[in-house]
Amino acid sequence: MLSAPEKPAPSAKKRSATAADGGKRWVYLFDQVDEAEKLVGSWDKVRALLGGKGSGLGDMTRAGVPVPPGLTITTEACNAYLANGNQFPDGMWDQVLAALKSVEEKAGKQFGSLTNPLLVSVRSGAKFSMPGMMDTVLNLGMNDDIADVMITKTNDPRFVFDSYRRLVQMFGSVVMNVEDEVFEDYLTEYKTSKNVKSDVELGAEDWKAITAEFKRRYQQHVGEPFPQDPLRQLWFAVEAVFKSWNGKRAVDYRNAAGIPHDLGTAVNVQTMVFGNMGSTSGTGVAFTRNPATGEKKLFGDYLFNAQGEDVVAGIRTPIPIEHLAEDNPQVFAQFMDISQKLEKHYREMQDVEFTIENGKLWMLQTRDGKRTARAAVRIAVEMVNEGLIRKEEAVLRVTPDHVLQLLHPQFDIDEKAAATKSGRMIAKGVNASPGAAVGVIAFDADLAEKWGKAGKSVIMARPETKPDDVHGMLASKGILTSRGGATSHAAVVARQFGVPCVCGAEALDINVRGRKLTVGETVIHEGDLISIDGGTGEVFVGEIKRVEPDFMREQYLRTLLSWADEFRRLDIYANADYPNDARRARQYGAQGIGLCRTEHMFFQEERLPIVQAMILSEPNSAEEAAHLAKLQQFQHDDFYGILKAMEGLPVIIRLLDPPLHEFMPNHEQLAMRAAGLRIIGDRPNELKKIEELMAAVENLQEFNPMLGLRGCRLGIMRPAISEMQVRALFEALCTLSAEGVVVYPEIMVAVTNTPNEVKFMKELIDRVANEIMTRTNQHFTYKVGTMIELPRAAIIADQMAQYSEFFSFGTNDLTQTTFGISRDDAEGKFLLYYVENGILPENPFQVLDPDGVGYLIRLAVEKGRATRPDIEIGICGEHGGDPKSIHFCHKAGLNYVSCSPFRVPIARLSAAHIALADNGFKAKMDL
Ligand code: PEP
Ligand code: MG
Repeated sequence: MLSAPEKPAPSAKKRSATAADGGKRWVYLFDQVDEAEKLVGSWDKVRALLGGKGSGLGDMTRAGVPVPPGLTITTEACNAYLANGNQFPDGMWDQVLAALKSVEEKAGKQFGSLTNPLLVSVRSGAKFSMPGMMDTVLNLGMNDDIADVMITKTNDPRFVFDSYRRLVQMFGSVVMNVEDEVFEDYLTEYKTSKNVKSDVELGAEDWKAITAEFKRRYQQHVGEPFPQDPLRQLWFAVEAVFKSWNGKRAVDYRNAAGIPHDLGTAVNVQTMVFGNMGSTSGTGVAFTRNPATGEKKLFGDYLFNAQGEDVVAGIRTPIPIEHLAEDNPQVFAQFMDISQKLEKHYREMQDVEFTIENGKLWMLQTRDGKRTARAAVRIAVEMVNEGLIRKEEAVLRVTPDHVLQLLHPQFDIDEKAAATKSGRMIAKGVNASPGAAVGVIAFDADLAEKWGKAGKSVIMARPETKPDDVHGMLASKGILTSRGGATSHAAVVARQFGVPCVCGAEALDINVRGRKLTVGETVIHEGDLISIDGGTGEVFVGEIKRVEPDFMREQYLRTLLSWADEFRRLDIYANADYPNDARRARQYGAQGIGLCRTEHMFFQEERLPIVQAMILSEPNSAEEAAHLAKLQQFQHDDFYGILKAMEGLPVIIRLLDPPLHEFMPNHEQLAMRAAGLRIIGDRPNELKKIEELMAAVENLQEFNPMLGLRGCRLGIMRPAISEMQVRALFEALCTLSAEGVVVYPEIMVAVTNTPNEVKFMKELIDRVANEIMTRTNQHFTYKVGTMIELPRAAIIADQMAQYSEFFSFGTNDLTQTTFGISRDDAEGKFLLYYVENGILPENPFQVLDPDGVGYLIRLAVEKGRATRPDIEIGICGEHGGDPKSIHFCHKAGLNYVSCSPFRVPIARLSAAHIALADNGFKAKMDL
């Protein structure tokens, strides 16, 4: 237990808070933060001396914001106290008392006065925010006599006794280490005896009785009465904050967070202000800009004659902040002015808490406001236009997730606001995977899959998900769980497959057996409609209208990305196989096509029979040539379309990659058809055809097709196919040139592991190209290059570069072959387990593995450039659209990343982020 001096301190003499005796300075008033800064030299050191909270309050004060006056006792005082056998250092208490005098003068009240009493709060505050430390003690300075004075002044005995009992309770538990249950249990008993549920139902007499009992219990546990001398209260509270630095919770927290143990904590003593002192008092919260839309307009609520809690508890409906302009124009004007000052000072949208006490406005807190993706983008752009921040900062303030959210379907803002207002928002969980989803609720994976396959929009809801549930999750439009956080199974799978997900919505009781979900009075049965917002974590009953994203209408985002383009070093290409994709990619800002997978053109319905007949024909036969001639016309049109869509930009066309059996019918289905025909027995010709087809399919089957006859191996074994593709391309170039369309084709050879493969293919390409160019008497500039998809190709990249004018890392295959993991077999089976259990930090098919695959990439870049310094190098695996992988590509010195058209905006932003970070830019630059 604390031992307190009988008389804690001599009363303060009139003197400055500065240590007039030339001793050490232990105390600063909030408005003396400049002095602290001058003394220690930097803002970081001010934070170390006054703590995060103290320096923040000081910073607000010097920005001209009316902060309830107060003082900060330094972290050095705390360290001296602890080093000194728990004794305040010489002069400290005198300095506290002197500073308190200044606080009293500013507040116009006196601590302990029986005419105009000042109450204060005492809070700890280390350099870094530390949840393990002492909590707050409010209403310090209250005693029996002062309670009476305050009742006379406020005419609100309920408020006064509620405040008094809070002090006894907080002081008892926080300062004197009395178990909190000693007070809480009594409060619960009391409410039960009065047959009421919540605190707000208790009146003045109740709180008076509870205060008396709290004091009795305090004395019983502490061994002395609750201190009536306000200065003794303060003395004890300051000591308790100092001691809390070495409390177990704080030490554990520092160990876990890696915070040094010798920093010490500061103590903040601040004037209490009350919004419930009658009709000229009030309280509220506001954002300096609309946090949903970003519109530059004050947004918030307030309540007259209320405390902060009343707003939060929803006992009374708050009034929109604009009404303050009518209710109290002077205070409103001042509030507007302060909000703008705060925004200017912090150069960021602020979320502020304020209290009006007897017509005087006080700002209690300000912090950077949370916002939606839409608001984040608009605010960043408008702040640049207002001259508040630089373009570089704006670009850094918008995250790839924001862009992702904006380009997913979203709920209509007004409908969502109306649903929230009408109480349809039933829970808020973790925003695990962005996107707005509406669907009927299903409580197990099988039903979700059944309904999903039947064309229904399903939201699968489970307490938590397991690997067995994945089929249902994939068939669902959204996933909802009541347990688990951002790395739970549900969250990991949902993000992986781009399904919107809210997890850990703990308010929901999901009763799988009972096929219902309950929250408060609301019961949702299987099949009922719900809506979830994976970007915010909100869950709604019923349907909320959604709006499809339209990039061209996203003015602010387009402006922001145009700034990103000024800063990035990497070019951004897109993977696109069709003219439509190419056009979209271009709209989204792609500077070229990094991968056109020509096999997609082979799969189209009207072409597949020709492709199959070609495969079945004898290699290099007249029959093969006839089928290929038909395909060539199709390919000509494909290439014409995509090159025209990308007029003036490079297009990398990859020659056929997948093994041929992928184009053939399924063997099992053929066998079943053959069996049926045998039973019928009267269609021998058809049966013969099917049997031939089966034999051919068997012949093409491979044990390990991923490592079989694919990529350039196929082109080498069946060169006529590659020749057809090259011919189609150059014929398309002729058509385009006749139309005056200038294009930049590049031809890419896949799955190579020796320079001779590249050499073979390059010779083939050059030969066919020359034939056509000679025949038509035209010249086209083109490049030939290879993908790097196998470790060997990376290791001997210097040799590969002899015949390659460009490299493109196919990191889908390179990851498979480096890890020896087949993606299709791994993701559904063990890879998620690996990630969930920390065996792998991330799914390497989503985020490029920097140590292994990344090592090969860096090696290949170095070796490739050693042979051919101007070799163009990019990436076209899926990693090309992942922010972390893009950062890696920037660092590795690639020329471009290529990703799906949809992810082009994210890639533009991510490439700018890493370039800016390289140049020392931050989202908030020091001024
Ligand atoms: C790759 O392997 O990364 C690649 C782009 O090729 P595909 O995905 O077509 O195998
Ligand atoms: Mg590949």
